[in-house]
Amino acid sequence: MNYFSLNNKNHKVTFQQAVINGLAPDKGLYFPESITPLPDLFFQEIEKYSNEEIAFEAIKQFVGDEIPQDVLELIISEIINFDFPCVEVEESVFSLELFHGPTMAFKDVGARFMSRCLGYFNRNSDAKNTVLVATSGDTGGAVASGFLGVKGVEVVILYPSGKVSDIQERQLTTLGQNITALEVDGVFDDCQDMVKKAFLDDDLKHKNLTSANSINIARWLPQMFYIFFAYKQLKKYNKEIILSCPSGNFGNICAGIMAKKLGLPIAHFVASTNANDTVPRFLINGNYNPKSTIATISNAMDVSNPSNFVRIQELYNNDLGQFKKDFSSYSFTDIETEEIIKKVYSNTNYILEQHGAVGYLGLKKEMEKHPNSIGVLLETAHPIKFLDTVEPLLNVKLPIPKQIESVLDKEKKSIKIKSYNDLKSFLSD
Ligand SMILES: *Cc1c(COP(=O)(O)O)cnc(C)c1O
Repeated sequence: MNYFSLNNKNHKVTFQQAVINGLAPDKGLYFPESITPLPDLFFQEIEKYSNEEIAFEAIKQFVGDEIPQDVLELIISEIINFDFPCVEVEESVFSLELFHGPTMAFKDVGARFMSRCLGYFNRNSDAKNTVLVATSGDTGGAVASGFLGVKGVEVVILYPSGKVSDIQERQLTTLGQNITALEVDGVFDDCQDMVKKAFLDDDLKHKNLTSANSINIARWLPQMFYIFFAYKQLKKYNKEIILSCPSGNFGNICAGIMAKKLGLPIAHFVASTNANDTVPRFLINGNYNPKSTIATISNAMDVSNPSNFVRIQELYNNDLGQFKKDFSSYSFTDIETEEIIKKVYSNTNYILEQHGAVGYLGLKKEMEKHPNSIGVLLETAHPIKFLDTVEPLLNVKLPIPKQIESVLDKEKKSIKIKSYNDLKSFLSD
């Protein structure tokens, strides 16, 4: 399968090259040259298939013959070896729990898929790729865990000193091997700026830098898998399905829309955001006008210019009318988010963390317009990862899951840096 750059449709590369490059040289996002829906029968009989078979059907056309079938099947079986349950929170409302993986964040699936693709491409060569990533907390852990020990790949993670939670810091600083954590004296935006600068720096061209966020097709496309798994679980209700994604870079929701392009019967999408409301405002007045990023409690979604929005527009052929028919987007404040975490807990005993809570709010708002539907929110992280918010709000003490326990006694190792020059000299060594 070939991919073109959304900045220039004549610029085409293979799947392998798109994964290695991350972003096209003209800074465009890669997009598949063709999208072929799966047969209707596949959806009618989806309960008959294992998750591994479903994932294989969903991804195979996007990989083509660049990874042999047996290798691709092995990769899939390794990356989805945990549960993706749709838990009923209240009547007709389900939480698709994406946090049962190794770092308890949905990003585990995409990060692990991408790492194994790179490992396969490097199998017979001495090539070295460097994955460079800035994290506000959650991405770093998933990438560190997903890429640990992968042949030919060095991972460098930048995180803002003192601004990630203790658990998140341990997840990205304790693994060692091919993973290095750089602790930046600054905020997340400083980390992000340094990473962007490094990608543009000709002196670092030979390092084969690539990114591991959802602009990379190998991080983005596998996020379709769990939308299929949700449908498999909810099909028996025989009702219209509304899907709400707590959205930052809009990678997850964009993967959901791709799944619909393949034929998955999702009736309506909701992109639920925090105060960073560029897309909700766009849907109201048609002006795409990002403002400066606002810091919120759902900090993994503090993004004002979502990278994947151009892909979503492409999926709708840039037809705003069509787009608005099955897509809504709503923004919620931190106060609304905290209130709903408390309310859902007191009514149902279900514990949402703040990202899932934003998803819940958007879902309920949309469901008012579809009285006979069922709704799914993506719960994108385990509440333990945000215990500083959740525990005091609900006055509870969360038990520590085993995935988290295993990093608590490991020793933190990080290298402190202050400026872009520090990063550059680290990468040049
Ligand atoms: C990354 C992240 C999101 C946002 O996902 P996008 O694909 O960037 O929209 C939501 N919740 C959590 C917990 C995350 O880590």
